[in-house]
Amino acid sequence: MQRAKDKVALITGASRGIGASTARLFAKEGARVIVTDILDNEGKKLSDEINATYYHLDVGVEGDWQSVTSEIKQKYGRVDVLFNNAGITGTNEDLGPQDPENASLESWHFIHKVNLDGAFLGCKYGIQLMKEHGGSIINMSSRSGVVGIPAAAAYASSKAAIRNHTKSVALYCAQKGYNIRCNSVHPGAILTPMWDTMLGTDPDQRKKVIDQLAKGIPLGHMGDPLDVAHAVLYLGVEESKYVTGIELTLDGGILAGSSASPE
Ligand code: NDP
Repeated sequence: MQRAKDKVALITGASRGIGASTARLFAKEGARVIVTDILDNEGKKLSDEINATYYHLDVGVEGDWQSVTSEIKQKYGRVDVLFNNAGITGTNEDLGPQDPENASLESWHFIHKVNLDGAFLGCKYGIQLMKEHGGSIINMSSRSGVVGIPAAAAYASSKAAIRNHTKSVALYCAQKGYNIRCNSVHPGAILTPMWDTMLGTDPDQRKKVIDQLAKGIPLGHMGDPLDVAHAVLYLGVEESKYVTGIELTLDGGILAGSSASPE
C-alpha cells in the first residue's frame, strides 16, 4: 500500500540532495509531488523523471510564494504536506568568513533570509494552502540548530530559530483548530552536494575527509539523504497524526553524547 497516496506534497530546495531524495520517495509512495527550487534545470529534470510539477521558488522572496501559492490553488486546490527544506550554509556561497567575529552583516542577513525567512514564509503560505483540509508542515532545521557552530554562526542561528518557530506554528495551528501539524527535522552529516566544498573533488581526498568525519559519528558513518526522506514521510502522513511540535533528530547519534565524555 502506498503511504502517501494522492497527497499533494510541496518540497522546497528539491532539485538535489535531501529535497530530491524526499521528492522521489513521496512520488514512489503515491503522492502528487510539487518540486520547487532556484536550480531550474535540475528541478525540471527531476520533475520529468518522477512525474511531478516544477515551480521556480526562491524561498526568501515573498512574491515567489504568492505566485506559486496561487498556481497551486488553481491546479491542485490544496497542499497536504509541505517540506520547508531549502537552505544554505554560507560557507559554500562565497559569502566570506562565517565566524562571529569576522562575518559581515550582509552575509548574516542573507543566510537568515534564505533559511529563516524561507521557513517563515513557507509556514505562512503553507497554512493558507492547508487550513481548509488540514495538513503537515515539516521544517528543515539541523543538528546545528541545537549546538553552536563557530565557523558557520549565521547558519546555526537560523536553524535554531527555525527549531523554535516550528513550535509556535504547531501551537498556533492547534489553537485555531486547523488540523495542521508542524514539526522540525534535525539531520547531521548527511552526504549531499552541500558538503562538496569541504570534501573537494579528488576521490582519495574525499574518502580521507569522510573517514575522518565518520570518527566523530557514533554510528560510524555519514547519513544518506533517504534517511531524512523516510523521517519526512513519517511526519507527512497519518502515521504521525498525534505528533506536533517535535524535533526529530537524524544524526547517527552525534547529539546523544559529547566528544568530551570521559572514556
Ligand atoms: P543541497 O545544497 O544539496 O540542496 C539544497 C537545495 O536548496 C539546492 O538545490 C539549492 O540550490 C537550493 N536552494 C538554495 N537557496 C535556495 C533558495 N533561496 N530558494 C530555494 N532553493 C534554494 O543541500 P542538502 O540537501 O544537504 O540540504 C537541504 C537542507 O538540509 C538544507 O536546509 C540544509 O541546511 C539541511 N541540512 C543538511 C545537512 C547535511 O548534512 N547535508 C545537515 C542538516 C541540515 P543552489 O545549489 O542553487 O544553492
